[in-house]
Amino acid sequence: MAKAKSNEPRIDAGEILGGIRDWVSIESPSTDAAAVNRMADRVEGDLRAIGAQVTRTPGRDGYGDMVRARSPWGGDGPGILVVSHLDTVHPIGTLAEQPFRREGDQVFGPGIYDMKGGAYLAYYAYRHLVRRGARTPLPITFLYVPEEEVGSPTSRAAIEAEARRNKYVLVTEPARDGGKIVTARKGAGEFTIRTRGRPSHAGLRHQDGRSAIREMAHQIIAVESLTDYDRGITTNAGMIGGGTGRNVVPRDCVAEIDLRCPDPGTMAEMVERILGLQAVDADVELAVSGGESRPPYVKDEGIAALFEHARTLAAEVDFALEDVPITGGCSDGNFTAAMGVPTLDGLGVDGAGAHSDHEHLYHSSLEPRARLLLRLFETLD
Ligand SMILES: [Zn+2]
Repeated sequence: MAKAKSNEPRIDAGEILGGIRDWVSIESPSTDAAAVNRMADRVEGDLRAIGAQVTRTPGRDGYGDMVRARSPWGGDGPGILVVSHLDTVHPIGTLAEQPFRREGDQVFGPGIYDMKGGAYLAYYAYRHLVRRGARTPLPITFLYVPEEEVGSPTSRAAIEAEARRNKYVLVTEPARDGGKIVTARKGAGEFTIRTRGRPSHAGLRHQDGRSAIREMAHQIIAVESLTDYDRGITTNAGMIGGGTGRNVVPRDCVAEIDLRCPDPGTMAEMVERILGLQAVDADVELAVSGGESRPPYVKDEGIAALFEHARTLAAEVDFALEDVPITGGCSDGNFTAAMGVPTLDGLGVDGAGAHSDHEHLYHSSLEPRARLLLRLFETLD
């Protein structure tokens, strides 16, 4: 590798961390549009400052704005789409309780790992190009989504439209298990099950009642029995509510169900089975609604080839890049990969503790992963 001239900008972990600190200092919980928009202001300003062409789409349904930025080179042609999210799961005030701090290689802060760190890393790699006056073979588009942590309900269409116009998608979600990236994610489904029975006095007229909770118990066992680890299928009744009093046979019950499946065929089969649930007690009404919320992200040929390319680049910057087998967690990468656009995910910072009070990144991951993103920008064509 050619030695950098002393006056040339360098990729510098301290400089990257300073930028991440600034982004982490703007708290941006998904459901607080004003807060997410303060983060959007910051990202927009940082991108404008380095000459990117920025457009901002006003938020709707109570969510913040979306920021899109495009390299000034490459015209309208298809290129590289980088998808990041502005929001975190942490409510305002978390930063005061868990301030930004470094302990050895670990750097703590709300949302630092998922994914302010990764979002900044991609910005920094792009800024490095611009500072050097360099161009890339393909134009680069950045999309900063305001509500990924709640499933991207208002930005999904824009993510898919943007992916359709590009050749590759790079997602800056956190790395896994020692720096591994993501080339496959399970798809997700969301369902609501409602049961309606007949209320009655539990002491006086027990025999007249038809319990909605008892029926729901049957349904939950039925749904959770669909879990099959060998096939990569999981179901979870994550929330339940029902009844009005200990001495009342309950009329109503509602449960919220989460489904994860590794591929489209399994997803279709499981959606059909859950929507087709039948009441055990003929006197109780059963209603099931819902369906797929994120399609499965399957490692197809295009993704495998893109991963091999990234692995070669990583070896050049001196680290061994691996991918995790398949993860049950979803991201915006599910949308783009399911469209057949080669997508690499988990390109953000390495660390641990996503969504927790001990969320942190590894300082040692900043420089090599910024270099990997830079090399992907420079070599994809
Ligand atoms: Zn994330």
